[in-house]
Amino acid sequence: MTATEAIAIETRPTPPNLAFENRPSLIGLSREDMAKVLVEKGVPERQAKMRVQQIWHWLYVRGISDFDDMLNVSKDLRALLKAHFTIARPEVVEEQISNDGTRKWLLRFPPRGAGRPVEVETVYIPEEGRGTLCISSQVGCSLTCDFCHTGTQRLVRNLTAEEILSQLLLARDRLGDFPDKETPQGAIVPLDGRKVSNIVMMGMGEPLYNFDNVKAALLIATDGDGLSLSRRRVTLSTSGVVPEIYRTGSEIGVMLAISLHAVRDDLRDELVPINKKYPLKELMEACKAYPGLSNARRITFEYVMLKGVNDSLADARDLVKLLKGVPAKINLIPFNPWPGSKYECSDWETIEAFSDFINQAGYASPIRTPRGRDILAACGQLKSESERMRKTERLAFEAMMIANHGED
Ligand code: SF4
Repeated sequence: MTATEAIAIETRPTPPNLAFENRPSLIGLSREDMAKVLVEKGVPERQAKMRVQQIWHWLYVRGISDFDDMLNVSKDLRALLKAHFTIARPEVVEEQISNDGTRKWLLRFPPRGAGRPVEVETVYIPEEGRGTLCISSQVGCSLTCDFCHTGTQRLVRNLTAEEILSQLLLARDRLGDFPDKETPQGAIVPLDGRKVSNIVMMGMGEPLYNFDNVKAALLIATDGDGLSLSRRRVTLSTSGVVPEIYRTGSEIGVMLAISLHAVRDDLRDELVPINKKYPLKELMEACKAYPGLSNARRITFEYVMLKGVNDSLADARDLVKLLKGVPAKINLIPFNPWPGSKYECSDWETIEAFSDFINQAGYASPIRTPRGRDILAACGQLKSESERMRKTERLAFEAMMIANHGED
């Protein structure tokens, strides 16, 4: 069976929600900010704290997306909330399901101010005993990591805290991970416990270039009276925005992953160009100072295997040297090609030899099996569908112009 035949595209689009477009959302607000906006719209100040508690429970424990479902909230207050706010989910433009159970949603968020609607991708990866949601933090990316498909899409804007969190809420809706929601028939999900047990900020964008919104969203995702994800099950992956690394540990307290991919500055400058600004020495110093590091709380270093580029045993040796003194795990990622990429994935024997070397040096180095390749949902493959379409249309147009020109 070819990869194309394996694709199962199940489109369960949801219609655009106009209420979502016109009113500010309560999702993504801290308790203090929620109390403030409620009081501004007429909720008596002495009731604000209790009302926030009720709304928080409905939003993040019960997962409702309609004020009418807030059963212990009076009709009058529901009417007031409906008149001024929204808690609607983003529009699902497309849902694709890989034959390995990976799901990718293309989500559309409404315009902000004078902007246009934007689209991002969110990916769910089920494995034995856990389900990981890969969340986007920006539309496009301002960095241009050479091996990454998202890096070819210019940055449109940062996602808001609401938009970051909505990806998690929507995934839990769709997977039946809220009390009144059903798991779709035949869906591959962990047998016990939560369907979304882990999240990784590893989708589109550089999360540390959108620190405040990412922080606000993750603090809500890990709030013990709501979504209640353990901080140890939340990982933020950065390409190496050194000044924000310490804050990630001290203010958010989640696990850290570094998109490393090269162990020499000259090569990393090329593969991960932010390295020119924050070279390896500074990056490693920031890693060593990451709050709460221990053998049980290690930093994950992601290393994409590119044929003939960074996959020699000398690279493996230098990698081990570089990580000396840092509680670390290494994730080897076989390169996932995308249309137009200039790299190839290393041969399997090369990946195994590399992996054996670093295992012998004492680093657990699971080779991350590519997931969702058939739906372009694997690491470094995300890009909004509309951007892909625009590019395809542009290329077709250019090809047509060239062909026409040739006929003149
Ligand atoms: S790897 Fe991350 S930071 Fe680099 S271009 Fe891709 S999305 Fe941006």
